[in-house]
Amino acid sequence: MTNAAPTPAEITELARGLHTLSRNLWWTWNQEAQEIFHELSPRGWQNLYHNAVAILHEVSDAELRVRLLDVEFARKVRGMLARFDAYMSEKDTWTAKEAPQLLKNPVAYFSAEFGFHETLPIAAGGLGILAGDHTKSASDIGLGFHGISLFYREGYFQQQISQENWQTESYNLLKPKNIPIEPVLNSGGEPLVLSVEIAMSTVYFHAWRVNVGRVSVYLLDCDRPENEQRFRDLTLRVYGGDSTTRIMQEVLLGVGGVRLLRALGLQPSVFHMNEGHAAFLVLELLREKLASGKAYADSVAQTRKECIFTTHTPVEAGHDRFTPDLMGYVLNKLQAELGLSFDDFMGLGRVDVKNMSEPFCMTVLALKVSRAANGVSELHGSVSRQMWQGLFPGKTVDEVPIGSITNGIHVPGWMKGPVRKFWQRKLAAEIAASSDQSKVVQTRFGTLPAGWNWEARLDSVDFWQRVADPAFLSDEEIWALRYRLRRELIEFTRRRLLLQGQRLSQGDFIAFDQLLKPDALTIGFARRFATYKRAPLVFQQFENIVKLAHDPLRPVQFVFAGKAHPRDDDGKRFIQHIIHLSKFSELKGSLVFIENYDVHVARMMVSGCDVWLNNPRRPLEASGTSGQKTSCHGCLNLSILDGWWREGYDGTNGFAIGEDSHPDSIEEQDRLDSESLYRALTEQVIPSFYQRDANGIPRQWIGKIRRAMVTLVAQFSTGRMVRDYVNNYYAPKPKA
Ligand SMILES: *Cc1c(COP(=O)(O)O)cnc(C)c1O
Repeated sequence: MTNAAPTPAEITELARGLHTLSRNLWWTWNQEAQEIFHELSPRGWQNLYHNAVAILHEVSDAELRVRLLDVEFARKVRGMLARFDAYMSEKDTWTAKEAPQLLKNPVAYFSAEFGFHETLPIAAGGLGILAGDHTKSASDIGLGFHGISLFYREGYFQQQISQENWQTESYNLLKPKNIPIEPVLNSGGEPLVLSVEIAMSTVYFHAWRVNVGRVSVYLLDCDRPENEQRFRDLTLRVYGGDSTTRIMQEVLLGVGGVRLLRALGLQPSVFHMNEGHAAFLVLELLREKLASGKAYADSVAQTRKECIFTTHTPVEAGHDRFTPDLMGYVLNKLQAELGLSFDDFMGLGRVDVKNMSEPFCMTVLALKVSRAANGVSELHGSVSRQMWQGLFPGKTVDEVPIGSITNGIHVPGWMKGPVRKFWQRKLAAEIAASSDQSKVVQTRFGTLPAGWNWEARLDSVDFWQRVADPAFLSDEEIWALRYRLRRELIEFTRRRLLLQGQRLSQGDFIAFDQLLKPDALTIGFARRFATYKRAPLVFQQFENIVKLAHDPLRPVQFVFAGKAHPRDDDGKRFIQHIIHLSKFSELKGSLVFIENYDVHVARMMVSGCDVWLNNPRRPLEASGTSGQKTSCHGCLNLSILDGWWREGYDGTNGFAIGEDSHPDSIEEQDRLDSESLYRALTEQVIPSFYQRDANGIPRQWIGKIRRAMVTLVAQFSTGRMVRDYVNNYYAPKPKA
């Protein structure tokens, strides 16, 4: 290592490396990379909302070159680019060992939304976040994987709360130049333009590539000069407009997605439909086979072999259904190309093919033309088998071929920066000792020591087993981390509420710097405000909750966030109710609502809260994933035994609300659950949190945190989940 300033050629190489990296989302789950962009422009990092691409527009090329004259900074950049290079060029991956056939014939993964990071706000909620996490883990294990979605140029809405505490929506135009996407070009270096037939029109689209580590997600975009305005606007918003917009978006996603893959020369062995939105892809696969001269029955059989389907909700309204009129109008051309009568065509999406009034259901189409299907938790698998039994005449509920793979989260992506450093420091010696020292890695940017990719272990069971040992990790260290994370959340919340208040010119009557107490038991709730998630449930026992909040020795406080769908007035009333309580009731100061829930707010909350509350109406949650983001930060779940928590909870690693069963009547369920929630809070959560030893340490509580880390982090990761998809669905090994 010399102290000589980098040469001009080296500076060019590093600057180019930073530009390439800014357009690869790998930086969103790599701590050093984020620190470098932050260091380049600390204010920009905050104001541009952690956007590496925008930072490199903010910092001129001239400035960047001069900054790289700093030997120390250049050394950091070089080290980070070496890690990126090593990650990108790794050959010895899990997939290479376990399922090499998926490298040649990859997985095509279709999802109407993908949630990656706050700079790319094109997800509406958990489904998109799951798709994003699936993609990141696919990259981590070296899977052959191509995602397909749409480029919503106004993204999902930004939430503002009005004077009347009513949610209002606004949309920001995303500028491709300023976000981590790149145009997909043809061999002539021009945008690749393809088309689909929708109604009587040919609709043209181009595509954008999102680089997610080693894999790509393609976002289809109809904003082409060749198109009429109504088609240019087709890809304006996530789930925007009415069912006509919806069906047209889904034609683009399914049919257009397959055409893009073919234009890129890809021959996937698996087409994975993440939710029914993408199911029209099977029609395009059928059309391709018929066009090549295959008989209809053979075409269906072959298409089935290529397709797998994941259903995500037992909520009826979550399954797209289209009327025969709409289907006929939008898909007449494709119907003709498939050589089907209209009734037979509609039959592909009907449970009862003879029922001419039955609408066309995307889930039905997906289930009929997939070789395998699954729900997203054990309970959801079982509920789905009941729900779709009608599609499998002669089969008992248990025989219905819908399995389950429980959702997870991408651990390195959700782990807050300081926590990543915490684990790295804790494990440094061990990582060095256990790494095969012959495996130093050569990269374009220098040599890396063995064990450089320690983050790859963050979703391994072995890694988290270590936490059980107090000699490895002390209670005191865990507790200090908890205090730090709680304070970061509280200070973040105060700042955000100050800004919210200023917008409503209410800055004067709330003492923002006194909102929430840094020592108090902090309970978080954040997710979409779909009514079945019952956000205000805990306040049903209002007088009692006020007493808990005001207990001078054992106070509790609440942080809420979440968006209601723009057309869901009931969800908006829930938001209004909670904000009203936070401003005008005796809970003022102990209850806050953070506007505009997104990935960044989520990360602050799942790390800073002590308890993560989830109280859906069972069994409607399907899986839920936000609670999975908490465990590596030392936050504990308090949840109904629905979705993933029914599998995760073992009596020692958090708290359950109610039993592993539920009454049929909704009223009865709401009443029981509200009582059980209050009981769990007062009999278990609060006493355990506040039971301190002579040094002020809650040993029992920390014991639960430890158990949560040992039992939950690896198990409920997308690392485990994607490997399950490979082993059970993408490339199942022949049964011995
Ligand atoms: C994790 C996450 C979700 C999903 O949360 P659930 O608990 O599954 O409802 C939704 N939105 C954002 C921004 C998230 O980060």
